[in-house]
Amino acid sequence: MDKNFIEKIKKSLFEEKEKLEKKLNEIAIKSKDIKDDYNAIFPNIGNEEGDNALEIEEFEENIGVENSLEISLQQIYRALKKIKENKFGICEKCGKKIEEKRLLIFPAAIICQKCIKTAKPLASSN
Ligand SMILES: [Zn+2]
Repeated sequence: MDKNFIEKIKKSLFEEKEKLEKKLNEIAIKSKDIKDDYNAIFPNIGNEEGDNALEIEEFEENIGVENSLEISLQQIYRALKKIKENKFGICEKCGKKIEEKRLLIFPAAIICQKCIKTAKPLASSN
């Protein structure tokens, strides 16, 4: 794959990573025990009647947001790792090159356009 293209991808991956981490830090705390794991913050709204319910509601919302941000972040880490290992842009299903056009739109893509069309929804693979 073209070196300039990889550099471009890398740049957008790092930008995306920063954005995600910033958002995550607003609603979650990085886990001390598990690497790259975040835990949603339990909000402290107040001690008035009804605050508790609000806090729980917000906490549940934080968990949802935290989970989806974390999944996106994991995809970024994965893509960066692939770049390091010189495996970036190779479809995990068919082993062929992923379309550059697709990678520009979604740099963390792990399967090609063709395989997406034929594949059943991917279970979260780790
Ligand atoms: Zn494929």
